[in-house]
Amino acid sequence: MRTQVAIIGSGPSGLLLGQLLTEAGIDNIILDRVDKDYILGRVRAGVLEEGTVGLLDQAKAGARLHAGGLPHDGFSLAFDGRDHRIDLYELTGGRRVTVYGQTEVTRDLMERREASGALSIYDAANVTPQGFDGRSPFATYVKDGAARRIDCDFIAGCDGFHGASRKVVPERAIKCFEKVYPFGWLGLLADVAPVSHELIYANHPRGFALCSMRSATRSRYYLQCPLDERVEDWSDDRFWDELRRRLPAHHAEALKTAPSFEKSIAPLRSFVAEPMRFGRLFLVGDAAHIVPPTGAKGLNLAASDVHYLFSGLIEYYREGSDHGIDAYSQVALSRVWKSVRFSWWMTTMMHRFPNTGDFDQRIQEAELDYLTHSRAASTVLAENYVGLPF
Ligand SMILES: Cc1cc2nc3c(=O)[nH]c(=O)nc-3n(C[C@H](O)[C@H](O)[C@H](O)COP(=O)(O)OP(=O)(O)OC[C@H]3O[C@@H](n4cnc5c(N)ncnc54)[C@H](O)[C@@H]3O)c2cc1C
Repeated sequence: MRTQVAIIGSGPSGLLLGQLLTEAGIDNIILDRVDKDYILGRVRAGVLEEGTVGLLDQAKAGARLHAGGLPHDGFSLAFDGRDHRIDLYELTGGRRVTVYGQTEVTRDLMERREASGALSIYDAANVTPQGFDGRSPFATYVKDGAARRIDCDFIAGCDGFHGASRKVVPERAIKCFEKVYPFGWLGLLADVAPVSHELIYANHPRGFALCSMRSATRSRYYLQCPLDERVEDWSDDRFWDELRRRLPAHHAEALKTAPSFEKSIAPLRSFVAEPMRFGRLFLVGDAAHIVPPTGAKGLNLAASDVHYLFSGLIEYYREGSDHGIDAYSQVALSRVWKSVRFSWWMTTMMHRFPNTGDFDQRIQEAELDYLTHSRAASTVLAENYVGLPF
């Protein structure tokens, strides 16, 4: 089989890149090691920057998002028993974010891909990018017990943090930067109205909490927890009680509960691999970088990588120029590191770290106090939260 761009991974980055290429008339094939239902069952991101929404529109996959997504003009920082609202809209001159689940983004892109007739191969085992140092790369995989091969011009490694693409790069050619945080997030999903129509990020002596949502009737809540916590030890009642303790009283009283239908624990880490291009293999999204979810940046960074790579491929196919693909790694990494910094800063400011001394605690309190009393500081937060331009 032959295609122009072989895409490894049918997550948001692979599907978005695939759809933009298909709309532009560039042939591509997506390979994923699992099936569609498994991918659609993963509960993850929920906050989309305007740039991400724009790319979904460009991929002609934005209709349901515009009908059902929730535009958010602000969010709350809760600490010391009170709330401080960050007015995103006012501080950024009219910009906002949209709350719309990653599962829905993925479903919309998959449906659009199916309608356009582009090929996706699921349940593909041992997917391996090869020959990317030369001009004739190819990907091999096993499907239904038979070894197969796709020849192509380029390979896009959109296969997430644990994927195959980053692993085939020789160690000497790649440098990885990593910070692992000493806690995780215990998440719960329930069909119940959110406690507030905007997100609440709470810093509490018992640990961080986040009140988020997927729709007006579906809530997503998170609690900071130790890394060795076991999800089986968290009954719904225990989760709701702990969440109430970490929220200001007026929110705790307003909190409505319902049986959960998903609970999971995610570790928090910052990770960046440099560069993001190796000959004709490009790393995109979580394959190249991970951020803690505090800043709501992971999916949005995947989208901005896709934008840069798509632009480079368009330049290559339409104008015969290598300029865009040559610049991809440097341009993408420049935005990646700014989001890594923002996500690290939000995480550091909002969480309680084990073994924090009195000095560090006072510094965190001073930071929150400064943020809530300085318009300049709030503007910096708002500008990063709605997303830096690309
Ligand atoms: C709890 C949680 C909350 C989050 N909240 C937010 C948020 O609010 N906002 C935000 O922007 N981001 C958030 N994120 C991050 C976001 O989910 C990721 O950044 C996003 O999924 C990255 O998309 P991706 O397509 O690059 O990778 P992935 O979604 O990981 O997709 C990779 C795909 O590649 C496939 N694959 C893997 N290995 C192979 C292989 N060897 N061969 C073939 N296929 C393979 C996988 O099956 C998968 O389908 C959150 C993440 C978590 C865990």
